[in-house]
Amino acid sequence: MKVSAIIPAAGSGERFGEEKQFKLFSGRPLLFHTLKLFLQSDYIDEIIVAVPSASVDSTHRDVLSMSAGKPVKVVAGGTRRQDSVKNGIDVSDSHSTLVCIHDAARPFVTEDLIQRSISACEFADGAVVGIPSKDTVKFTENGFIKETLDREKIWLAQTPQCFHKNKLLQALYNAEKENLIGTDESALMEAMGFSIKLVDGESNNFKITTKDDWIRAELVASRQAQGSVL
Ligand code: C5P
Repeated sequence: MKVSAIIPAAGSGERFGEEKQFKLFSGRPLLFHTLKLFLQSDYIDEIIVAVPSASVDSTHRDVLSMSAGKPVKVVAGGTRRQDSVKNGIDVSDSHSTLVCIHDAARPFVTEDLIQRSISACEFADGAVVGIPSKDTVKFTENGFIKETLDREKIWLAQTPQCFHKNKLLQALYNAEKENLIGTDESALMEAMGFSIKLVDGESNNFKITTKDDWIRAELVASRQAQGSVL
């Protein structure tokens, strides 16, 4: 079984205030920390990175300097995250049957998470890494609480999210036809009724969205460098 990793990194960084994927983190662009873990992974056969179209050439040059024998392709992302993922699938190896999607903005992914999310696809249409919610989650409308969700059933989705490629393509075509926008690819798969397994994630595998997240990430990186994990 061949696995293509897709790293969507084409966001504009609206909530962060700049394109954080290229901001230096421990001396290298954030994207390259994430990419490195996929380059080192025994479970990934090729990597496709989606970046803003203005950054395709420069990213391609940087990637060439670091790729260790594994094919890495760089494509222009799209307007929405799902468009960036679709552009990645379009250039993927025709022999790959599984797609492993991972946010560029989660630099603390581990080999264990990559392996667990891929393995879980053996008995499901896809698998998503997530952690249980510690907070009580409210469903709201116009600033008022409509409903309190059962915390025991609430999980916060992370990435990697892995799917059988043919089924993900069906979900992406369906989303296009039905005008569905997903904040992750799992939502588009769920809309089709596909079975998605939940896999235990890790709290350190958080997504850097805000400046506060960046500070937290620097703390985690420095603790890891000292040999201890938060
Ligand atoms: O917006 P969100 O925080 O869910 O973005 C998650 C990941 O998707 C980020 O790594 C971001 O760069 C990427 N993305 C993308 N193309 C878009 C929007 C987001 O590749 N159009």
